[in-house]
Amino acid sequence: MSRSTAAHIDLNALRNNYRTACERAGSAQAMAVVKADGYGHGIARVAAALSDVAPKYAVACIEEAITIREAGLSQPVVLLQGVHAAGDLAECVQHRFEPVVHGEHQLDWIEQTGVAPDFWLKVNTGMNRLGFRPDDLPAVMARLAKANARARLRGFVSHFACADDSDSLMTAAQTARFEAATSAWPTLMKSVGNSAAHFIPGQPLFDWSRPGIMLYGGSPVIGKTGPELGLEPVMSLQAPLITTRIVRAGESVGYGGTWVAEQDTRMGMVAIGYGDGYPRHAGTDTPAAIGGRRIRLIGRVSMDMLAVDLSNAPEAQVGAPVELWGQTVGVDEVASCAGTISYELLTGVTSRVPRVYL
Ligand code: PLP
Repeated sequence: MSRSTAAHIDLNALRNNYRTACERAGSAQAMAVVKADGYGHGIARVAAALSDVAPKYAVACIEEAITIREAGLSQPVVLLQGVHAAGDLAECVQHRFEPVVHGEHQLDWIEQTGVAPDFWLKVNTGMNRLGFRPDDLPAVMARLAKANARARLRGFVSHFACADDSDSLMTAAQTARFEAATSAWPTLMKSVGNSAAHFIPGQPLFDWSRPGIMLYGGSPVIGKTGPELGLEPVMSLQAPLITTRIVRAGESVGYGGTWVAEQDTRMGMVAIGYGDGYPRHAGTDTPAAIGGRRIRLIGRVSMDMLAVDLSNAPEAQVGAPVELWGQTVGVDEVASCAGTISYELLTGVTSRVPRVYL
C-alpha cells in the first residue's frame, strides 16, 4: 500500500487553458512555456498533451529541451536563457532548439565556432536581467552579418517586469521601447508577452506570445485568481488524513506551540509537509478542503505532515483525501497565505509526490 499523497494533473484543463491563451493572443501564435518541469506538472506529459496544438515550446535551458525530444516531440524549442557554453550550439542545430542570444559572450561563441542555430535576440527594454540595450542592436546586427549568422536570426524577444500589475506604466514603456528598437528590421518576428500580457486590454502581442503560468491555471494578475480570469486549475494536490484527535482547550498543536485551542477541537493530521513542497510559511488559517468543504490549517507545517481543524468537516475519517490546493481552494489563495506566488508553489512540489494524470 503506497502513501496516497499525490498531485492530480488534469491535462484537459491544461489544454483548455492553452486554448484560452490562443484566443487572447489574437493573431499572435502562443509558444507553450513548459520550463521548470512544466511548472511542476511534468514537462514530458505537459508537452505531449499540447503537442497537437502548440507549434513551439519554450524552456529555460538545453537540458529541459532535451527532455522534450526524449518524449518524442519534434516542435522547435526556444531556450529562454540561451546556451550556457559554446559547445551547446551544435546541439541546438541538431535538435532544432532556438536559443535566445542575450549577451556579447554568446555572440563570441557564434563567431568562434562558426555554428549558428536558428536563434532570437533579446532586447533589454527595462527588466535589466538579460539582453542587449536598444542602442547596441545595430552593432549586434553588424556582428551577426559578419559571422554569417544573420540569416538564422528569427526575431527579437523581450520580457516584461511588471505586466502583473495593471496600475504600472512600465509595460507600456517597455512595449514602446521594444517597437522603436526593432523597427529597423520589420521582417523579423517579435515576442514579448508573458501570461499577464494576455490580460492587458489593447496590449500588442506581436507574432509570438509566451504563456506560462496561465496554462497551469495560476493567476498572472495581481488581485485576481485563476478562475476569475477564466482559467481552470490543472493541479489538485491531495493527501490523506492519517489520524484524527480531540485537542483540549488550552493545548497547543505542533512545533513551537504556535496554535492553542480555545475550546475542545477535533483536528486531523494530513500526510503532506514542506518535504513535499507544501509551503512552510502557510500556517494557521490557510485554507484546505475535504469533500468540497473548506477547512483550515492550524499550527506550523512540519516536514511530512500538517494539522487541520476538522470543525467544518465533522464526519471526516482517517483516509479521507484532503485537497491542499486545486478545485475548492485555489493555488493562488494558498500562495497568498504563504506570502508567495502560485509559480513557486507549483514548481516546488517535490519528487516525493507522484504526479497522477487524468
Ligand atoms: N518568457 C520568459 C522570458 C520567461 O522567463 C517566462 C517565465 O518566467 C515566461 C515567458 C512565462 O511567464 P508567465 O509564467 O508569467 O506566463
